[in-house]
Amino acid sequence: MGPRALIDTSAFRSNLQRARKAAPGSRVIAVIKANAYGHGMLRAARLLDQADAFGVARVGEGVELRQSGVSHEILVLEGAFDQEQLIAASTHDLQLVINSPWQLELLNQPGLPRPVVCWLKVDTGMHRLGFAPQAVEAAYRQLQENRVAVRGPVRLMTHLANGDDLQDHTSSRQIAAFMPLVTRFGVEGSIANSAGILGWPSTRSDWNRPGIMLYGASPFIAGDAGEYGLKPVMTLESRLIAINHYHKGARIGYSGTWACPEPMPVGVVAIGYGDGYPRHTPSGTPVLLNDHRVPLIGRVSMDMITIDLRRQRQARIGDRVTLWGRGLPADEIARAAGTIAYELFCGVTSRVDFQEI
Ligand SMILES: *Cc1c(COP(=O)(O)O)cnc(C)c1O
Repeated sequence: MGPRALIDTSAFRSNLQRARKAAPGSRVIAVIKANAYGHGMLRAARLLDQADAFGVARVGEGVELRQSGVSHEILVLEGAFDQEQLIAASTHDLQLVINSPWQLELLNQPGLPRPVVCWLKVDTGMHRLGFAPQAVEAAYRQLQENRVAVRGPVRLMTHLANGDDLQDHTSSRQIAAFMPLVTRFGVEGSIANSAGILGWPSTRSDWNRPGIMLYGASPFIAGDAGEYGLKPVMTLESRLIAINHYHKGARIGYSGTWACPEPMPVGVVAIGYGDGYPRHTPSGTPVLLNDHRVPLIGRVSMDMITIDLRRQRQARIGDRVTLWGRGLPADEIARAAGTIAYELFCGVTSRVDFQEI
């Protein structure tokens, strides 16, 4: 009866195909950081084994993939944080993104088990990590000349700041700053995340880095993943565990934020912020009860939510309730809760039972 996250294995594969079809000339780095956006990193690596490479944020995530037998190229997007991580990356053949001068210096040490493939991050406008375009040449030379710690040709990477907004011109400026560097050094480059792949064709280059689209949600502030041919991978569901009848004016849940406008049935669903359904989701946000939309009412508790059953009077204890996924886009729930699907997915807790379908 408890909450479950159903993982649609064919949707996973279909979304990867979608990323490939959008950019047939590019190789795909499937981004599976943060436990594959809450979907399970090792599961994602298995189901997305048709990807050309995997992207993770941290060295520890890459080591875990290697230890479970993943033999793909693995790219660590934040790079190594210290000498110990650099040695782990070298030992496990993880590729490092070099984001800052101190990470460049970290490579000036003898005695690595073997040299590491490096990607140089260019800051073309995100202003978070990476080398300014005018500083790239010196950093690039330093990497290229470091034969002890660096293996093979250096690759270049940048990241879109406003790719989620198709009306914004920042992406075009970033592309214009990045591509000449790729040409000048004659190396492989990578710009596109999901937003780039689906919305900014000129960001598609040697390597693409799709994340959220593989999980079937939209990378854009407006719009719907379905329009882009994406299928939801995770369906979060639980069951109705109580049906109560209250009089007009009865207040529901903590702080009594919602009052019954008339005598009415109220359902209790076994899901709450302890499972990852956000506490600040407001009254009126839809859930699916037996494939019908009904509104959330009152505060989200740790283990439960309450829903309005006035239009579902035939509901029974044990009926299935979907919080997001098939039939109810996570993007819509995220918007209602003032967040993005990325955060909803990452927030699903270990108390939820994951099942592949
Ligand atoms: C997380 C991440 C991605 C994937 O982004 P999506 O928006 O999920 O497609 C790509 N590149 C970098 C550097 C990232 O950190």
